[in-house]
Amino acid sequence: MSGTGRHPTLGELSRGQMPEGARLAFRPYWWDAAPRPEPDAMPLPERADVVVIGSGFTGLSAALTLVRNGRVPLVLEREVPGFGASTRNGGQIGSGNQKFRVQHLIALRGAEKARAMLREGVAMLDYIADLVAREQIACDFARCGRFRGAIRPAHYEAMARDMEDLFAFAGVESFMVPRAEQHREIGSDLFHGGSVLPGDASLHPGRYHAGLMARILAAGGAVIGGAGVTGIRVEPDGFSLATPRGAVRCRAVIVATNGYTDGMLPELKRRIVPVGSGLIATGEIPSALFKPLMPTDRVYGNTNRVFSYFRAAPGERRIVWGGRVGRLASDRSPAAYAHLARDLLETFPALSDVPVTHGWDGRIGYTYDEVPHLGRTRQGVHYALGYCGTGVSRATYFGHKVALQVLGAPQGRTAFDDLAFPAFPVHPVAKRAVPVVETWYRLRDTYDF
Ligand SMILES: Cc1cc2nc3c(=O)[nH]c(=O)nc-3n(C[C@H](O)[C@H](O)[C@H](O)COP(=O)(O)OP(=O)(O)OC[C@H]3O[C@@H](n4cnc5c(N)ncnc54)[C@H](O)[C@@H]3O)c2cc1C
Repeated sequence: MSGTGRHPTLGELSRGQMPEGARLAFRPYWWDAAPRPEPDAMPLPERADVVVIGSGFTGLSAALTLVRNGRVPLVLEREVPGFGASTRNGGQIGSGNQKFRVQHLIALRGAEKARAMLREGVAMLDYIADLVAREQIACDFARCGRFRGAIRPAHYEAMARDMEDLFAFAGVESFMVPRAEQHREIGSDLFHGGSVLPGDASLHPGRYHAGLMARILAAGGAVIGGAGVTGIRVEPDGFSLATPRGAVRCRAVIVATNGYTDGMLPELKRRIVPVGSGLIATGEIPSALFKPLMPTDRVYGNTNRVFSYFRAAPGERRIVWGGRVGRLASDRSPAAYAHLARDLLETFPALSDVPVTHGWDGRIGYTYDEVPHLGRTRQGVHYALGYCGTGVSRATYFGHKVALQVLGAPQGRTAFDDLAFPAFPVHPVAKRAVPVVETWYRLRDTYDF
């Protein structure tokens, strides 16, 4: 592509350059196939059965479970439906178990609890696979497996031990790929070998979100955008929710706001710190160049503390590449994405002339103990949030479970129910410190200390 209106190449973007007339779409690539619906201007109902606050995977999964059990959920969303992380993520699906180092989890929680949590992680992955099949959601779901490249030899050894523990404790199958053989998994010499979790999966986040929403609407539920909840008041027969479009009274409330949690419930706000994550999407890559890069078509990541995650877009020769961003407000300048282009080129140096079409970011919800939480606040409001960056399966599963808890069903129990949900000791400081901490971790990744 050349001339006015072309996209910047990875090489240009990596140097923070935007040639005259070049353009980058500052929105999720996934929205091309699944555009966001316009916010709804219709009046809000004065009364509802269960109100779900937040329209990502947690909120929609909860609403779907409610509607399939004969209830009539109303999902209220501050922005357009699906505005949050659920349509902005990398579409990589794991059990969440890769977040925990098994021995560390055992040391913290004890062997029995650790085993229950790890096994439930596997159940989360199976749940989303079953849901997509049962509801016939066309979202390119595939059990493609995950390759995680070791940035240092010591990371390879540590991963191998962790994979053995994961098998012993949760029956998770995996295999290690030594450096000498890694080209059968990835066309890069950056790594010192890696691990493969064959059961991990991928999907198109925009199409998955659209599919969930379509099922809820078809079954009689409602999802209304432009209806942010600003306050929750306890009433004798339930709750009254304040919104700029009027109050809604309901019997039960589920908060599903994760990394976008605001001051609506201070009790939850103190327990979540939003962390930015950003992605770029390349244009179509010529076949000869693309084929050797990801021959097994898995989802990919590395072992850095500030890690990269990447994959091909479903059925395309286009790479979607993600990593952390230090700032939270979307910075609509190419410079905000230069480090992602640099990281991509470090892994696949031959791609410097490939165009970059999209750049976007979103908010991950971090908890102090790096464990997701579901439960009820002191006033009886249900919540599920805090997936720490692994939320495609966890949010879907937690949404389902919290809905079952609203229904009072014993199947709603989880291994996460009785975990204390710690607040960040100095929340405003923790929130502001995120960019500093990330820079520190990047330095540690670079100089290995
Ligand atoms: C860039 C990025 C990449 C990621 N990649 C992956 C990945 O590859 N694999 C993976 O497993 N996970 C990934 N994640 C994490 C995953 O996307 C999230 O954990 C998951 O989508 C969370 O879903 P959710 O429904 O809980 O929250 P969200 O999807 O963030 O939805 C929360 C919604 O609540 C709304 N809201 C907030 N406050 C209010 C209010 N007061 N009233 C009404 N609405 C409100 C927000 O507008 C938002 O739409 C990624 C996250 C990001 C940001």
